Amino acid sequence: MREQPLLQVENLTIDYILADSIIKAVRNASFAIGKGEILCLVGESGSGKTTIGLAIAGALPENAVIREGRIIFKEKRILGRGSKISTGKEDKIMMIFQDPASALNPLFKVGEVISDIIKNHLGIDNSVKIKEKALELFRMVELPDPERVFDSYPHELSGGMLQRVVIAIALSANPALLIADEPTTMLDVTLQAQILNLLLNLRRRLGLSMLFITHNLGVAAEVSDRIIVMYAGEIVEEAKTRELLNNPLHPYTRGLIECIPRTHIRYSKLKSIPGTIPDLRNPPKWCIFADRCTEAVDLCYKIKPDLIEFSKDHRVSCHLYRADKK
Ligand code: ATP
Ligand code: SF4
Repeated sequence: MREQPLLQVENLTIDYILADSIIKAVRNASFAIGKGEILCLVGESGSGKTTIGLAIAGALPENAVIREGRIIFKEKRILGRGSKISTGKEDKIMMIFQDPASALNPLFKVGEVISDIIKNHLGIDNSVKIKEKALELFRMVELPDPERVFDSYPHELSGGMLQRVVIAIALSANPALLIADEPTTMLDVTLQAQILNLLLNLRRRLGLSMLFITHNLGVAAEVSDRIIVMYAGEIVEEAKTRELLNNPLHPYTRGLIECIPRTHIRYSKLKSIPGTIPDLRNPPKWCIFADRCTEAVDLCYKIKPDLIEFSKDHRVSCHLYRADKK
């Protein structure tokens, strides 16, 4: 019998309500994450990646409405039509963000913050044991001088150290799933590589599953087992990482791959995909990428392509791969 995935997202459809309009941020997103797997959501700004992460973590803003969909975590339904969103706390899903400083209250020492979480999530209330656990977590995320870090205010630590602190805080809840939303975007290249390595180490040591959100396909290629490419609120392609990079099918994915900077080619100009994503207040009923696609034909402006299984574990939404064309 096939092992149940840790997380299953089915037909997730989320709108944001504004005073004068509705943003259709995510439409019909379905995917799964296996135990110990790192899945990357990749796409330009505004493609709905963070919205999906927040929905899974139970942390959507007030003006978000889940129109449709189910989220099943550890075989338990944590989100469904009409059901209350779980807090993520009891379900052990933790989320970390791009800017670690904004996740920490500047008035509290980081030791106080992590102690609170250890107390609430692990039920430890002896202060010596709490501190021991905090220092163990700081060592696990390879923070130098954990004692000093414990007694520091956020502004006394560098960006790289703060991101490690935030990861340690997330781990203190002993999560089964970590959602990392652009965790390296604000760091320089060296620190970025260190944090990516740390996340990979943690996966190896703790068997942690991860949903990694990034706009950078190059970063996704380094950390993930599988990649989902999103465009303007829809999943357009999904495959194991190596397959996606070696055999990209969707014209948007191919465009993203061409945009990965190639450091070994000197003086190469960084490419970008011409055009902008469609207005999410009124997304087209036909192919969502048609306006930017160099391969569009008439059908693309008439009918929305289904997300089809092109080959084993490789899904794509594009008329170029219709069953009658294979
Ligand atoms: P980014 O990398 O910029 O965060 P993203 O792919 O994560 O992009 P989301 O942040 O999920 O995309 O945003 C999807 C769409 O929803 C965008 O058009 C965004 O402007 C809109 N949006 C996000 N949050 C809200 C909100 N609270 N109210 C209204 N619209 C929102
Ligand atoms: Fe391009 Fe048509 Fe495929 Fe859309 S369906 S990505 S417009 S070829």
